[in-house]
Amino acid sequence: MNKPLSAIDPGAAMASNYHETDVVIVGAGPCGLFAVFELGLLDLKCHLIDILDRPGGQCAELYPEKPIYDIPGWPVISAQGLVDKLMEQIRPFAAEFHFGEMVSELERTDAGFRVRTDANTTIACKVVVVAAGGGSFQPKRPPIPGIEAYEGRSVFYSVRRMEDFRDHDLLVVGGGDSALDWTLNLQPIAKSLTLVHRRPEFRAAPDSVNKMFALRDQGALSFEQGQVTALKGEGGTLEAAIIKGPEGDREIAATRLLPFFGLTMKLGPVANWGLNLHEELIAVDTEKFESSEPGIFAIGDINFYPGKLKLILSGFHEAALMSQAAKRIVHPNQRVVFQYTTSSTSLQKKLGVA
Ligand SMILES: Cc1cc2nc3c(=O)[nH]c(=O)nc-3n(C[C@H](O)[C@H](O)[C@H](O)COP(=O)(O)OP(=O)(O)OC[C@H]3O[C@@H](n4cnc5c(N)ncnc54)[C@H](O)[C@@H]3O)c2cc1C
Repeated sequence: MNKPLSAIDPGAAMASNYHETDVVIVGAGPCGLFAVFELGLLDLKCHLIDILDRPGGQCAELYPEKPIYDIPGWPVISAQGLVDKLMEQIRPFAAEFHFGEMVSELERTDAGFRVRTDANTTIACKVVVVAAGGGSFQPKRPPIPGIEAYEGRSVFYSVRRMEDFRDHDLLVVGGGDSALDWTLNLQPIAKSLTLVHRRPEFRAAPDSVNKMFALRDQGALSFEQGQVTALKGEGGTLEAAIIKGPEGDREIAATRLLPFFGLTMKLGPVANWGLNLHEELIAVDTEKFESSEPGIFAIGDINFYPGKLKLILSGFHEAALMSQAAKRIVHPNQRVVFQYTTSSTSLQKKLGVA
């Protein structure tokens, strides 16, 4: 744990970007969002901070239009659809969001904690919930000379809106699920689509690979074995790419390049908060999902315990149990009464449905 800021920050409470709340949630991915609901039912107010410019974490950033099939009660829901529903579900609790800010410092104070962001927001709170997923995630950049000049214009590491790729000559690179899924999803709207992978074997689901080869056999897309070694274009506008394959170099028309080489998950500042870690994940108990520091909890992909599954539904369960423990810290003299939303008028009043 860093040294308390109190001595160097006497005017913090006067600053406009100073806030006080019950709970600060680091990360507004699906698990951080659902934590607002569980904490809200127990009358705990939350502030959420996220580096991204919108809620949803991996769901919104990496695969918003992909269907998810294992959210209880939703046979199928798109990742962005799930985020939208979570935002609707937590609306009654009026949580405050701080987007585009990274939590950089976390200090214990006499009253609880003080959380600071790289945008100089300071929040005093009683409980901290780290729902930081894989930390700050960065796509791995392929080793193509000069690729930086095309990034954000012709080279993209995620698909936020499929429409942005309509009628383009698309070059998708990679052999994992993301590369194959986007090949199949974008092929119907692309002017042309070429998938490039350095080996004939794929890491992606066999079903996706079979579908891709079936489309190739119908002439609906091309598959090239090889590696992209150079890009051609002016001012960030891509026109073609050179593929080095087993039979030499080939030039392929391409106006959009989508490399899927995986993500580097960087734990970032969380690593400096003095918490016990297990291989870059925060070690927690399975009763409260509390870290080695009392009052600091970790839920979702960021935590570790024996048997942990990095699934959204696991994070939802963790949020519910964490909230019970957080309540006891924030309101130590109040009894926590177990209630169902179906039958409790008091919970329904909080949800605005009574
Ligand atoms: C392609 C793909 C498909 C998937 N499909 C499924 C599926 O079908 N079913 C399923 O259950 N799961 C699936 N997952 C996994 C699922 O998305 C994750 O389990 C889930 O997103 C974890 O949620 P989280 O809230 O813990 O973290 P995340 O979604 O990773 O969100 C964490 C947030 O914390 C923020 N953050 C990190 N560090 C800081 C900091 N210091 N300051 C401020 N903000 C910070 C990040 O910016 C991020 O927005 C899939 C994942 C991928 C990549």
